[in-house]
Amino acid sequence: MQRLITIPLILLLLQEAYGIEIELSKKVLKLGEALEVKVKGIEKSGNYICWLNDNPYPLYPLNASTLRTFIGFGAKFKAKTCSLRIEEAKDFILPNYEKSNREKNSIYVKRLADALRTETPVQFWTGGFTWPTRGRISGRFGERRFDQNNAYLGIHQGIDITGKTGTPVFCPNNGRVVLIGRFDLEGKVLVIDHGQGFVSTYFHLSEILVEEGEEVKNDQVIARVGATGRVTAPHLHFGLYIHGTPIDPLYWLPKDTAKNVK
Ligand SMILES: [Zn+2]
Repeated sequence: MQRLITIPLILLLLQEAYGIEIELSKKVLKLGEALEVKVKGIEKSGNYICWLNDNPYPLYPLNASTLRTFIGFGAKFKAKTCSLRIEEAKDFILPNYEKSNREKNSIYVKRLADALRTETPVQFWTGGFTWPTRGRISGRFGERRFDQNNAYLGIHQGIDITGKTGTPVFCPNNGRVVLIGRFDLEGKVLVIDHGQGFVSTYFHLSEILVEEGEEVKNDQVIARVGATGRVTAPHLHFGLYIHGTPIDPLYWLPKDTAKNVK
């Protein structure tokens, strides 16, 4: 099994506007982790953007006096040192997404990519995430993946949880279904928007039990494990994205799988 790549990262606050307090959840991040940025003392009449180097992230309300965003550190993140600044923007600005060749060449795959970048200012998710299914983790986030001919496919952008076909998949947090589809590699796919830039994905399903646009609640059975798409055995591929960047779901799930699923 491939080890996770570690990206040492020092965040330097180069610009801190007068009267604004910025709180960071951590200052060094590993691949697949997310940084929580809280901004206190801002007038909330405008759109505020948190810039990390030259990439903008939307700030959403956390409570009456605080705005917040999460910044995911995926495999494509190259900088070792970052600067952060908060700015008022005339319009809502979306992050600069890196587009895959597959997405550029297929309108159909673009549908999936767009779903991963859903931005809803409302926060549907609450508390921590729970395990979508019980099983052994057979694939980890950040592994380098190759096909049968040893051609490099890319970094694994989620975790694989083993399970027999038909095993229930539970909704790990509140949200809304943004996409149901079928794709060559991913098989039957379900994408859930948890709000404020958080999105979760479920690949290789045998059955999907919800509809696009439907509101879903934590612990609700939303789908069943399967072996659709390019797989060697039935399993659930579970992915978590923040502002379109894949992050490691293990950082968001309880340590014990058995305790948290029915
Ligand atoms: Zn997978």
